[in-house]
Amino acid sequence: MNFEHWKRIVIKVGSALIAPTNTGCSSEYLLSIANFIKQCRSSGIQVVLVSSGSIAAGAHLFSPNKDSKNTDNIIIKKAMAAAGQAEMMATWDTLFDFPTAQVLLTHADLRKRDRYESIRDTIDTLLEHDILPIVNENDAVTTDKLKVGDNDNLSAMVATAAHADTLVICSDIEGLFTKNPHLHQDAKLVSDVYQIDEDIYAMAGGATSSVGTGGMKTKIEAAEKAISHGIDTYIVNGFKKQTFQAMLAGDNPGTHFFSDKNPMHDGVHWMRHTTRALGELIVGDQYKIGHNEASDLLVADDLLSVNGDFSSGDVVLLRKHNGDKLAKVKTNYSSCLLNFVADSTNQDFSEELDKTQDPIISKQYIALMES
Ligand code: GLU
Repeated sequence: MNFEHWKRIVIKVGSALIAPTNTGCSSEYLLSIANFIKQCRSSGIQVVLVSSGSIAAGAHLFSPNKDSKNTDNIIIKKAMAAAGQAEMMATWDTLFDFPTAQVLLTHADLRKRDRYESIRDTIDTLLEHDILPIVNENDAVTTDKLKVGDNDNLSAMVATAAHADTLVICSDIEGLFTKNPHLHQDAKLVSDVYQIDEDIYAMAGGATSSVGTGGMKTKIEAAEKAISHGIDTYIVNGFKKQTFQAMLAGDNPGTHFFSDKNPMHDGVHWMRHTTRALGELIVGDQYKIGHNEASDLLVADDLLSVNGDFSSGDVVLLRKHNGDKLAKVKTNYSSCLLNFVADSTNQDFSEELDKTQDPIISKQYIALMES
């Protein structure tokens, strides 16, 4: 590992590092991380920080008696996040002698291609001006439908949107172990991973953190997203200053997930790993689809029915009448209009649409289902 080859890294820091006791922020574990960020920047490496901690930082402001029944209540958590986000940003600010910028996102921003690209533009511009972007999920406005849910997966989505080459995820243990090290003394640290498969997920088990929402599983999910975009990913122990000294010395102190030699095309990666299908287009059994082939042009006649409520530009699942899932695709029309098109009594309208308007699905954004 040679950190000097890095050009743009994303470093993810979890709630347990920022607010270890759930009583507001503490810089105890952040100093060595801040120092690492400074060292990277002075070596010419651009850094994006994905920081959790708003809920953990804000929790102590809510009366335990009054709100005790509600600590798992999403409404209270949103209020905690709104209150704690400012404290979290202020804590980071005290550790840096350069400007920082707050970037708050939800999954609704990442799954719209134009907004996803606008996130990239903002991060690019901040970095060009030597400002450190500090990204978090905008928990104050999220709902179950809108959120990413954990900052491990968010950090991978940010790393791909920002075209980073390296993702460092700070954990509370050294990295991925062959078994849960809290339960098995013979558990061994896995230093290098070249492929993420079921065995790797089995090692991660269901281990979770007591503060924050992630666990080893969400870190592996994040690594899988990142490496398939060509991003080298590390899971390291963020609590130990030796971790950061080792990385600056070019050593791997944790688990290194090697990036794919043939990364996915950015658009296909975004479709597969960032978007969620918000509805379904059901097509006739004779309909075929492949990348960039003439048959990709779905015409009104192919469309049998539409499920769900979606807008133009959303991603939907293309499914055959017999149930086979074909692909995730970006639709150019809303469910309302496509329901009208699928209705055979509106054939004149459908023929006109095929002839004169944008195709039903965007040819540029098709992620075929793995068979
Ligand atoms: N966005 C959440 C927060 O700032 C953290 C989510 C997570 O723990 O992964 O509190």
